[in-house]
Amino acid sequence: MSEDIFDVVIIGGGPAGLTAGIYTARETLKTLLLEKELTGGLPAKVDMLENYPGFQDGILGMELMDKMRAQAEKFGVNFGEFEDVSKIVDEGKTFRLITENAEYISRAVIISTGGLPRPIGLESERALLGKGVSYCAVCDGPLYKNAELVVVGGGDAAVQEGIYLTKFAKKVTIVHRRDQLRAQPILQQRAFANEKISFKWDSVATEILGNDHVEGVEIRNVKTNEKSRFAVDGVFVFIGWTPNTAFVKDLLKLDGSGHIITDENMETSVKGIFAIGDVRSKKYRQIANAVGDGAIGALAVSDYLAGIL
Ligand code: NAP
Repeated sequence: MSEDIFDVVIIGGGPAGLTAGIYTARETLKTLLLEKELTGGLPAKVDMLENYPGFQDGILGMELMDKMRAQAEKFGVNFGEFEDVSKIVDEGKTFRLITENAEYISRAVIISTGGLPRPIGLESERALLGKGVSYCAVCDGPLYKNAELVVVGGGDAAVQEGIYLTKFAKKVTIVHRRDQLRAQPILQQRAFANEKISFKWDSVATEILGNDHVEGVEIRNVKTNEKSRFAVDGVFVFIGWTPNTAFVKDLLKLDGSGHIITDENMETSVKGIFAIGDVRSKKYRQIANAVGDGAIGALAVSDYLAGIL
């Protein structure tokens, strides 16, 4: 157990957390970043980022996140990877953060834990996870050369990842519960123009078929209630995210969907605890505004520690 007192512990190593670390460490605040997996967060699992400013030809998600991490390291952020914080205890002037392996004490805390992919909720989806069911196209897409795939969802992630999967698959069917996509127009245009992509509109997946591996899906048309089955080799689910806030649900004010409520300085309902990035209650979730949240949160921590916030 370490009894060092950190100025700030950042929980979560995606773009928001890494940006906050770059700022706080550069201000010579003693900074620890705890991440339950490897740093990089969601963007590290995305192929090409086309709308992150500064890279006119796009940049690979992994490459951008490696650069952010290297910059945070340069300024002296301490990293604890595979450290999952299960509890934050408010001890008055400091906070105690508890993980499976250790406890850390900090004067301020920044939460940037993002979210987890939302599952459809089917028993067969759980049973076939890793056997044809996936939530990560970059991780698993290359396994599906010449395969027939289903993508469930109609938002930016479903359409962008569906297009990415056509690099490998011979056919991608996007199953969406409405007859209009939610995704940005530029992604929609590309998907409609892609000969490998077809759509099943007004449809939800009701069963994923197969024993040892995915062999097909059953879908239901929500307007006619008609069910149909077709053969596929893999099912990729992109129907949104659930915020990683279970560990603070009794400590902080959350909105109806479980995201952390903050003010414009990223302050939560507990003084000294800040929240940034996708985990916080807001309408638009982009890497660019996660980075913005990180900068604001870090500056606010600095002011809080100086007694001027
Ligand atoms: P999202 O925008 O919340 O879209 C989720 C999609 O899944 C929607 O089409 C929704 O249908 C559908 N859906 C939700 N629950 C469902 C269920 N139980 N069964 C079937 N379908 C369901 O989530 P996302 O696409 O993961 O994106 C999350 C955030 O990241 C967004 O803010 C997005 O803009 C951002 N993002 C941006 C980019 C980019 O800029 N290139 C890429 C990826 C993600 P309805 O449309 O009917 O609600």
